[in-house]
Amino acid sequence: MIHEVVSTSTFRKWFGTIELDNGLVLYTTGSIASWLFEGDKVEIRIKEKPKDVFGKKTLFFDDYDLYKIYGNAKIKVWDAFHKEFELPRLSFGREVYRYKILAREAIYEKDFESIAELEQYHYASQKSRVALWQCEECGTLVESNIKPKCDCGGEVHIVEIKGSTPASRFIVFELKDRQPYEPEVIAYVRVDPPVPLMHRKINGEIRKNIREQVFPREWFENIFSPEEEMKSLFKELRSENSLKIARHKLWERASKVAMKRCNSAASRIARVVVHPDYRADGIGITAVKTAVEWIAKRRVPEMRMKKHLIEVIAQMARFNPFFEKAGFFYVWDTASGKPVLYRPLTEMAEEMIRKFLETDEIAKEHGGKLCISRYGNVEKLKKLRFSGVSKVFGTVLDLDKVAGEVRFVLESFGVKQRVVERYVFRDVSFEVKPGEIIAVVGASGVGKTTLLRLIMGTEKPSEGMVEVEADKIVAIIPAEIEPEISDKSLIEQVYEVCGNIYVAVEILNKCGISDAVLYRARFNELSTGQRERFKLALCLAQKPSLMLIDEFAAHLDDVTAMRVARKISELARNAGITLIAVTHRKEVIKALSPDRTFYVGYGGVLTGDQSFP
Ligand SMILES: [Zn+2]
Repeated sequence: MIHEVVSTSTFRKWFGTIELDNGLVLYTTGSIASWLFEGDKVEIRIKEKPKDVFGKKTLFFDDYDLYKIYGNAKIKVWDAFHKEFELPRLSFGREVYRYKILAREAIYEKDFESIAELEQYHYASQKSRVALWQCEECGTLVESNIKPKCDCGGEVHIVEIKGSTPASRFIVFELKDRQPYEPEVIAYVRVDPPVPLMHRKINGEIRKNIREQVFPREWFENIFSPEEEMKSLFKELRSENSLKIARHKLWERASKVAMKRCNSAASRIARVVVHPDYRADGIGITAVKTAVEWIAKRRVPEMRMKKHLIEVIAQMARFNPFFEKAGFFYVWDTASGKPVLYRPLTEMAEEMIRKFLETDEIAKEHGGKLCISRYGNVEKLKKLRFSGVSKVFGTVLDLDKVAGEVRFVLESFGVKQRVVERYVFRDVSFEVKPGEIIAVVGASGVGKTTLLRLIMGTEKPSEGMVEVEADKIVAIIPAEIEPEISDKSLIEQVYEVCGNIYVAVEILNKCGISDAVLYRARFNELSTGQRERFKLALCLAQKPSLMLIDEFAAHLDDVTAMRVARKISELARNAGITLIAVTHRKEVIKALSPDRTFYVGYGGVLTGDQSFP
């Protein structure tokens, strides 16, 4: 059945109605109802009988499906987009369980409350208030990050996520089968129309309306721009209302008109926020990919013209590659110097982007890639050779320091003073090649740490020769050798050592400190595991030729340990760092994918290149 929309009403983002020309009233969300206008053609599939509400035949949320007819296309409007998927939790390199996530357009009031809570992590400051709330009873407006209470005792509702517009639509990622201590919503993505105007900065010069030079003009001709509408509307409203009321009505009315006009072949991902506890699991990329699907299928937000492109303007894309991993290409910088990325949704758009990247003088150089490694290469290790090395440890048993009664027992066994000597290494010879990655394994107390000390030179061999020639050697041997730590923020400390802010962020990310809140933190605010990762970052910041790590990833959970091991191994390999890491964890060895594994024990070092059993 094809019908026409007669009218719509909205109450906040989470409730709206659509009235059709046959008198039917449909319950939906405010964010969907606000995009439908009088005269829009729709097709309805009724699933349940209409109920009588105030004398109107009404279909509740679950009672119908709705499609919008636009040209020859039929775009699904309702029920709201949703999709279930699973992500693996790994342990010892194996999947221990999968957790379920339900991605769906934000439809409930509690979804918007969750968005406000997550938004705090985005702003990374306790001072910013991210949402506006209103008391139902007395009308008081309150800015807050979590649901506030009103002094009058009235019920408070969320009115607005600050920074969003009436045109914004949200998709939330809900954790299914969650534990009581886990959050319900772990990520959200906000989708807006593209920015109204975009100029490009190129060698200090501004090129206006750059998009129209690359894409068809009509793709960006009618973009949500309430500011434009406001100019003409203000005169009209002011003639009928007081200044205060005119201003109040202005934004609302202008937004409505702007939404009616808005019709673009592009959409913009305006926010991607992931709960900090879940950032490690690749939810950011999954969230973006799901939002891409939502935009393409449902033509979000307007539900009009076919979508060819998704736009992203985000400074953080310089530091974090997850947009690129989700298929976005870097194209240019805006007039204010922010990078712009596009995700083509059609072959036509992809062709246009490719042509631009191939022909534009500046784009030719970056080739559509923004987040590239800037770490560079280190001075390679010159020599690391053990020749006939033996190491004897002597322990002196001295009864002078033993308490009287204990001494009596020991003396009864004939123990007076004795020197116990044992070989830690006996005639060990090996050579490490520059750039090799070596995992060192063995039971505790068999000499793994001694091996590192011999390389560092803090321990001398009893016999034989240890030759090490390297430009820069760094090591972490807990409680013995550790990088110097100050009370400055983490990012400042890493930046001071490596001298390049992009490299500093890259190193922190590789070490699993990929959260802007953590960048600003100080060492004493970190957990044990975070401290360990930060020490690794400080080592890498020194661009070492040789890096020695004792008990690598000892304080990290399985998933984090593997991720950090994989990333550091990858960085070391690309940069030419020789890495020797002591670990007892199988999954860490696997993630390091070492060139060789050294087995230490019973006086020897087995240095074959056989893989770990
Ligand atoms: Zn109140």
